[in-house]
Amino acid sequence: MVKLMDEVELVQNENWIGVWGADWVLEGCASCNGVFVLPPDKVSQRCPFCGQTALAQMNPADDRPIYTQPPELIVPFTAAEGQLRASVRQFAKSLWLAPTDLSENTLLGRLQPVYLPMWLVDAQVQGEWQAEMGFDYEIVSHRERFNHSDWQTERVKEKRVRWEQRVGRLQRLYDNQAAPALEEQARVEGKIGRFDRTAPKPFHPGDLHGAVVHLPNRPPEDAWNEAVIGLQTAVAQDCRLACEADHSRGFKWSPRFANQQWTQLLLPLYTSYYLDDDNRAQMVLLHGQTGKLHGAKCASMKRAQRVAGMIAAAAAVFLLLTLALLVIGYAVTEDALAWAGLVAGILTAGVGATAVIPLLYAWYINTTAKQ
Ligand SMILES: [Zn+2]
Repeated sequence: MVKLMDEVELVQNENWIGVWGADWVLEGCASCNGVFVLPPDKVSQRCPFCGQTALAQMNPADDRPIYTQPPELIVPFTAAEGQLRASVRQFAKSLWLAPTDLSENTLLGRLQPVYLPMWLVDAQVQGEWQAEMGFDYEIVSHRERFNHSDWQTERVKEKRVRWEQRVGRLQRLYDNQAAPALEEQARVEGKIGRFDRTAPKPFHPGDLHGAVVHLPNRPPEDAWNEAVIGLQTAVAQDCRLACEADHSRGFKWSPRFANQQWTQLLLPLYTSYYLDDDNRAQMVLLHGQTGKLHGAKCASMKRAQRVAGMIAAAAAVFLLLTLALLVIGYAVTEDALAWAGLVAGILTAGVGATAVIPLLYAWYINTTAKQ
């Protein structure tokens, strides 16, 4: 019997990628070191996470990644198409001197759904705890008030909390405490906002249609400390409910944990990109629930040079005009013409000076504002 269980386990281990999809493949990015599982029609495309290189195929058996725990829950893509379109349009319009590859249609055409992993851990928790539990109660008092010509008695209700020290023992299995499974999770959420994880669905491979999945790169040992914080909140809440208290404070415990089981929760992200002057991908991220967008900002130095050239050409026309007016002015000794020449000269200098603005702008965007 034991041998049979071992064999079943072995088969599952060998076919770990099968839980994602029958013909799914494993690929890695040499630039960001991301490891992905994806359907065969997405094979060897540009990395959906960093955009820098094409993904390279890996052998799921020989190159098996360290963290292949199965998916358990999935947060679906819920951002409306109109919302995504509006975010992309606004971003495409927001950049002056944008590279020619940056347009609403290009970004939408390259939109790729990507699921990001979070850890979910189940753990058996036991230990002692102590806390102050608060119980609401009301007191009724009477207040005398002089109204018009006589005294009246008024009933006054007042809410108070009675605090009592409680201690106890706990033994319970806690399911699905979440903690980030990607080193980049905080950076992504810092850009597009946090994911709402309150209504995940059980995982089914059919839900992954058209998406690629980023596998975890953060060890469960690192994520465990965050999971314990979530566990403490859940345990403190349970202890309060067990005491039938309305409030609790000063919760302390000495927990022991056992039988930790790690699975994955998948979070919805769209990625897209545009190419800059040097054909490097500039990434654009969209929140899969809210449609909020964050894009790397990049200006085209080539376009800036063209605009600067046009301004310089206008300045040259003013310069010719200045010279012509000065020559004519002196020839006919008309002061007015000489003054006109001076004004045209000032305009020449003014227009000529503005030619550096597009160059300075592009330089500023590409060196300081770029992510
Ligand atoms: Zn990459």
